[in-house]
Amino acid sequence: MNASPPEGLAPPLAVLLELTHRCPLRCPYCSNPLELERARGELATGQWTRVLDEAAAMGVLQVHFSGGEPTARTDLEALVAHAAGRGLYTNLITSAVLLDRARIAALAAAGLDHVQISFQDSEAAGADRIGGYPGGHAKKLAAAREVKAAGLALTLNAVMHRQNLHHLPEMIELALDLGAGRLEVAHVQYYGWGLANRAALIPTRTQLEAATATVEAARVRHKGRLVIDYVVPDYYARRPKACMGGWARQFLNISPSGKVLPCHAAESIPGLSFENVAQRPLAAIWAQSEAFQRFRGTGWMPEPCRSCARAEIDWGGCRCQAFALAGDAALTDPACALSPHHGAVLALAEAESEAGREAFVYRQIGARIPA
Ligand code: SF4
Ligand code: SF4
Repeated sequence: MNASPPEGLAPPLAVLLELTHRCPLRCPYCSNPLELERARGELATGQWTRVLDEAAAMGVLQVHFSGGEPTARTDLEALVAHAAGRGLYTNLITSAVLLDRARIAALAAAGLDHVQISFQDSEAAGADRIGGYPGGHAKKLAAAREVKAAGLALTLNAVMHRQNLHHLPEMIELALDLGAGRLEVAHVQYYGWGLANRAALIPTRTQLEAATATVEAARVRHKGRLVIDYVVPDYYARRPKACMGGWARQFLNISPSGKVLPCHAAESIPGLSFENVAQRPLAAIWAQSEAFQRFRGTGWMPEPCRSCARAEIDWGGCRCQAFALAGDAALTDPACALSPHHGAVLALAEAESEAGREAFVYRQIGARIPA
């Protein structure tokens, strides 16, 4: 491990604050860890405002208020106002089921710049089943319309998988209907809850190819009206994505209790320890903490990454995925076709996607996770 940070280390572009892990929904692919943090451990308002001060002083540009469900915090408006007052671009990542007109107006008045609402499906029956929250879809539709009426920028986040991909064209229509400027078509990523539910969620290769064609056609058709981002599932790829833009290069994540993480799934890697913003300044953690230093840059890389021309393009892929699929976070991401584990991963994706499991392990404290 390097003892000191690289010279000229840039600050993160963005910080994501998981204000709480409380959430009315129970999505089986939630990015929160399997060990959800309890409400009693959450940072207090004054601790979060200090974090915002420190982030702004470091040169961070954007803050994402996330969760769990961030609107479960009654101090959200105060935190948004504080961030806006420090010149940070503010984004709310929400399920929207707790948002009504008055709350949206208060957030807009506090200086909120942007709202991202997740949708579980394009129609209520599927969406409410996937989210584990009856009536949720209707609430989301109403909230999205209020967000637009309040003049806030709106992105729809459509999390796609084997059980809703047949509705991708309708999801695109929904984004247009709601007046969203951006749609994120995000295939489930298989860490944490997503990994526990992989057999119920992973698409077939045929589904993936159809989805990619649908996105490409929609991008052309709706150019100038709707921007469509597309996040593919790595398992069928030949090269991995640059996860988080590279470990500890552009982004940090803070858990409800103040743990500072290089990515939301980093706690799935055993042996890493994470410092807490209640005990050490954010800038020092970013520059020096063991977890950030461990996989920053290229010095940690094994072959085939070490001598690969893409080493500073994809940064060896995802460390959490390397651990989940190959048992060692310090290996090449098995999503890469150059990894010796790639063939096994591909076979596993094909076998699970064809087997047709439908039942979910819903996200909740005390859920029984299959081995
Ligand atoms: S993914 Fe679903 S369960 Fe997880 S925080 Fe978002 S809305 Fe809640
Ligand atoms: S060998 Fe490593 S650096 Fe090269 S493409 Fe694969 S994951 Fe990326």
